[in-house]
Amino acid sequence: MSNDDWTQRSLAHVWQPCTQMQDHAGADPELPLIPVRRAEGAWLEDFDGRRYLDAVSSWWTNIFGHRHPHIVEQLRQQLDTLDHVMLGGFTHAPVVELSERLVQLAPPGLTRCFYADNGSSAVEVALKMSFHYWHNAGQPRKRRFITLTNSYHGETLGALAVGGPSIYRDTYAPLLLQPIHVPSPDCYERTPGQSWEDHTRQSFVHMEHALAEHAGEVCAVILEPLVQCAGGMRMYHPLYLRLLREACNRHGVHLIADEIAVGFGRTGRMWACDWAPPNPRDDDAQPGITPDFLCLSKGLTGGTLPLAVTLTREAIYQAFYADYRAGKAFLHSHSYTGNPLACRAALATLDLFETEKPLATNRLLADLMWRQTADIRAHPHVAEVRQQGMILAIELARNVRSREPYPAAERRGLRVYRHALNGRPDFAAVLRPLGNVIYFMPPYVITPREIEQLCKLALDAIHQATRD
Ligand SMILES: *Cc1c(COP(=O)(O)O)cnc(C)c1O
Repeated sequence: MSNDDWTQRSLAHVWQPCTQMQDHAGADPELPLIPVRRAEGAWLEDFDGRRYLDAVSSWWTNIFGHRHPHIVEQLRQQLDTLDHVMLGGFTHAPVVELSERLVQLAPPGLTRCFYADNGSSAVEVALKMSFHYWHNAGQPRKRRFITLTNSYHGETLGALAVGGPSIYRDTYAPLLLQPIHVPSPDCYERTPGQSWEDHTRQSFVHMEHALAEHAGEVCAVILEPLVQCAGGMRMYHPLYLRLLREACNRHGVHLIADEIAVGFGRTGRMWACDWAPPNPRDDDAQPGITPDFLCLSKGLTGGTLPLAVTLTREAIYQAFYADYRAGKAFLHSHSYTGNPLACRAALATLDLFETEKPLATNRLLADLMWRQTADIRAHPHVAEVRQQGMILAIELARNVRSREPYPAAERRGLRVYRHALNGRPDFAAVLRPLGNVIYFMPPYVITPREIEQLCKLALDAIHQATRD
């Protein structure tokens, strides 16, 4: 069976996510569908034997490479003892061990783990728990959420409502909660010459106003710490996290940190929340903040199985803990909550943080990505290259000086993607774009040599895609 055979069979019945299916149709499709036969490390291989560097970690999930031997081995052993049991009324070793380790690793004060099987559901859990906490605490007026423009928190109706990018949301607007939108601190929007820190501090004024005005009706602020990933890898200064933590405390509003994409070392520290600078007014100030809810998924299982978790504080857990007849329990569930195989894969992934020390290696790899993109930064249609750890984003623009974007209909990012897939005879890569933004978000096992080749290929592809 060749690529063509599988493509035809797939197009007959499979409906791809986040896709206009017509893009895949025809002899020379806009967006080629690639049937993948196998994967190993940072590489995917199709049915015609072509290999592609997985430069976006299969939608940001795959942090230690495909089929990492340690994860595979641990999964095999788990399969021999317990596949699945419902978590209602039952518990098991993988979910207990994983919860213990996550509490150890997470920002201090997060002691309780609630599981789901995808990131959107982890966000739903945080939203519902926050609302329900205030309800149990006798504050039923608190029923709204504050979110940043251009944020992304998933696709289920609650998560979609608190997300920003309008292409995902507008159609469903009649179905959605009405959150309070606060302008994002996105530093691409800063005035020329302004520092990230200044722009971020200035943007915070909007948040402060929204909290002052709405705190009485607001349950929580939700945000993606440091990088608005699906919104085009837009970035901001970690000072925002410190200011927000303090403002939420002052106004009696929860803080939900959605680290589904940026957790597990992606930004250069274990959690993006760890980057928050210490409070200058506090003598034993520590860097990092603890949110009231921390949502994790994607990298949690090293990209092998679906799993998500929402961590929260003891005091929030205690607000639900009462005699059954008080009616305070959190009655939310998913059939596959805390699946033992997925938890085992997560434990194996956490082992790799200890044995492979990726945060140290990633510093070197991230530096190399920056140095190798010098030519890309100088390209006449690259308005900005920005980076946070193992995320490097390239913003294409029609006019880099005025930052006039390419019209979406020209699909420039998609052209880059196609060129990179065709690649050179010995090297092709998956650079699935976000509109006019091309980005590298590779598995941590990418080699220096692969980074060099990837940067050359991306430059080539950008050149081709912006020629006319
Ligand atoms: C991917 C993502 C989600 C949604 O996770 P799914 O598993 O795709 O439902 C939520 N928030 C952020 C920040 C994400 O990147």
